[in-house]
Amino acid sequence: MKDENFLKANNARSLWHPMTAPSDSLKNPPAIIVGGSGTRIRDIDGHEVVDGVGGLWNVNLGYSCQPVKQAIADQLEALPYYSIFRGTSNDKVIELAEELRTFFAPDGLTRAFFTSGGSDSVETALRLARQYHKIRGEAGRIKFLSLKKGYHGTHIGGASVNGNANFRTAYEPLLPGCHHIPAPYTYRNPFNESDPAKLAQLCLQALEDEIAFQGAGTIAAFIMEPILGAGGVIPPHPSFMPGVEAICRKNGILLIADEVITAFGRSGAWSGSRLWGVKPDFMCTAKAITNGYFPFGAVMISEGVAEVFEGDETGRAAIGHGYTYSGHPVGAAAALACLAETQRLNLVENASARGAQLWAGINRLKDKYTVIGDVRGGHGLMLAIELVGERASKTAPPKSQPGQVQEVAYKAGAMVRVSGPNIILSPPLVLTSADAETILAALDAGFAAL
Ligand code: PMP
Repeated sequence: MKDENFLKANNARSLWHPMTAPSDSLKNPPAIIVGGSGTRIRDIDGHEVVDGVGGLWNVNLGYSCQPVKQAIADQLEALPYYSIFRGTSNDKVIELAEELRTFFAPDGLTRAFFTSGGSDSVETALRLARQYHKIRGEAGRIKFLSLKKGYHGTHIGGASVNGNANFRTAYEPLLPGCHHIPAPYTYRNPFNESDPAKLAQLCLQALEDEIAFQGAGTIAAFIMEPILGAGGVIPPHPSFMPGVEAICRKNGILLIADEVITAFGRSGAWSGSRLWGVKPDFMCTAKAITNGYFPFGAVMISEGVAEVFEGDETGRAAIGHGYTYSGHPVGAAAALACLAETQRLNLVENASARGAQLWAGINRLKDKYTVIGDVRGGHGLMLAIELVGERASKTAPPKSQPGQVQEVAYKAGAMVRVSGPNIILSPPLVLTSADAETILAALDAGFAAL
């Protein structure tokens, strides 16, 4: 490793950090992480903390998952790369597709299209959704609907269905024909409705109204996260996603579940769609599919959509889409090992148990600190604490405040993430009870310091 002074001096000189103003990383140099083991990460100054962020919602198995490392090393020896474009395949990707078919059969998803990450997975689903309608002779179905506050990655299609201005404004004009409806966000919503069940109904009505306004025959797909992640961990009422599914079915609109965060156990279920009892037409996955050890993703495709593509005789089903790294054998090997480890360690159950522990803990913090306006979670290891200036009026907190909590929490032993007024927790699913207590104690210290 280069020496510490070299790394600190050059960190922001020759690289731009994603989702950060370049001037900001020059002024506030980020922690430089140089090591990781289990649920812990170590920075360049030797400070070790529990990773309450799990990398970026993706390191479900922690930082020293030997079977995954070994699978990657073995695959690099056997075959480090081969494409699966027309005419060739590779053994690992076939094995993985068959495994995924087994895992997602209860969700009705039996085909896989491989990608290099979450944004690619979203783009793939959007494009294949349009193509599906064209194959069926409904070429007018080109629009996409989504939720405000939703996050769907950074490609132009994904940014167009994103529901947060921070990821859109600088890059406009985006894709035409993308429209947004209110998210079932109980703490703040345009209906001033604080009952989650009633709010779900109001949002579903907004969806019906938007479909009627646009014309059902112009809409290709509705895309949503089963639990909104980057928008601040917003779990909808259990009636919401099934309601969306019913409305989509009634109107011939495809349902895309963006499960880049929620799949593979993070939501306390194998998938967020399964949590809500919904069978989407496409499911976008990435992140934990390879535990963050290799850039990879998969779009799972329903039997119904597969029949349309596979049964086409017109030539319209030729897929003019794919990535050099679609079906990368090293990624496939990593994914197979991750799926096996997630099962072997019962991580879906552990996500629920540790999630419940953190949920109870952050609710206790809410009783203690009035700067906490809302806490969200209750489904696996995705939780958020929303800070406010004043509780009654729900005013925004001073901009620097979430960052101050984060800084003190880091010193006190846990990395947490700041997103707008929210502090987000998405630790590895291998989290222990003691790790969860460390995170809670660090947050307590962070809030106490305000
Ligand atoms: N969809 C969702 C729901 C996500 O949370 C993310 C990433 N946080 C993406 C898509 C994009 O994934 P990636 O950053 O791997 O491109």
